[in-house]
Amino acid sequence: MTQPSDKALVPFVSVDNMMRLIHHVGVEDMMRDLADYIEADFKRWELFDKTPRVASHSDVGVIELMPTSDGEAYGFKYVNGHPKNTSEGLQTVTAFGLLADVYTGYPVLLTEMTILTALRTAATSAMVAKHLAPKGADTMAMIGNGAQSEFQTLAMKAIIGLKAVRLYDKDPAATEKCAQNLAGLGIDVTICKTPEEAIEGAQILTTCTADKQYATILTDNMVGSGVHINAIGGDCPGKTELAPGILNRSDVFVEYPPQTRVEGEIQQMPEDFAVTELWEVISGHKPGRTGDRQITLFDSVGFAIEDFSALRYIRDRIKGTDYFVDLDMLADPDDPRDLFGMVQRAKA
Ligand code: NAD
Repeated sequence: MTQPSDKALVPFVSVDNMMRLIHHVGVEDMMRDLADYIEADFKRWELFDKTPRVASHSDVGVIELMPTSDGEAYGFKYVNGHPKNTSEGLQTVTAFGLLADVYTGYPVLLTEMTILTALRTAATSAMVAKHLAPKGADTMAMIGNGAQSEFQTLAMKAIIGLKAVRLYDKDPAATEKCAQNLAGLGIDVTICKTPEEAIEGAQILTTCTADKQYATILTDNMVGSGVHINAIGGDCPGKTELAPGILNRSDVFVEYPPQTRVEGEIQQMPEDFAVTELWEVISGHKPGRTGDRQITLFDSVGFAIEDFSALRYIRDRIKGTDYFVDLDMLADPDDPRDLFGMVQRAKA
């Protein structure tokens, strides 16, 4: 009979262990590390298998699978998006993910990814802002103060040196929660009563709201020249945050056009609307910000390679720690062809 020591066990990082790991590494250091992993993978973008995520829509939300591979490892994330969930005491976004070895096909990591998604989304935003935001940008408007908002703010602090955040949410309780969570973390927090007030003096405008509709969080006249827009919340067909006029005045940067054209802000624009792929900027093939008056717009939807980078980071980071448990999730008989025999012997 197969002994436990022979079993192909899969490291599993639970929510509890993910939180322990974050406190061990430090939330800002972890987002810095994640940004480095994500940037490294954007630089080798061309060798990845890429496909728009596979989405299953319902009237109230979406459930998606996000796969990719670099030829050595294969990863996927399961993620949902249900804006109505918060009113029922549930998360809008939850996720888990898996990394596998391409050579054997065996999983090498299973992990919670609800928290990891917030970390990687924020790390990606800040990594992109490093390339696109105006030099010396130190103030951000944060519109939408839900689950992602503190992570977005702290990643900008850790990676580009953000000093101040101006918070607005249509629900003042969300803003109050965000302000309390950020208190004492080295960032100057201002609570604002309107989105117009939030964008005053901000060089980075982050929209991170959740509503399954063509929303207008920023109108065209709210956006002055020279700012960087970090548009996070519009990430699904029929779910956008920006007035189309803003897109016409901006240089738009995207992760993977075949996915962003369906899910991002640019779903409002003609199919041939000009965009720049971020990997080309990050690898130095194309310019990012070229002038003081330019409006740069990161039309973020979240792409599988960012999750792959996050999975790679967790796989590497948990080695030699106790921030995981081994899961017996692979049937792996000593004689590979004797799967039935293994089942029979388990009866004894
Ligand atoms: P959440 O539900 O926790 O928070 C959303 C907040 O937006 C809520 O506090 C809500 O009151 C506020 N809001 C809704 N409509 C608003 C409006 N018109 N004006 C101001 N505030 C408004 O959701 P979350 O987990 O923080 O996610 C926010 C959005 O980001 C979601 O749409 C989610 O799908 C998206 N998201 C994108 C990525 C990505 O990679 N691009 C990753 C994660 C989440």
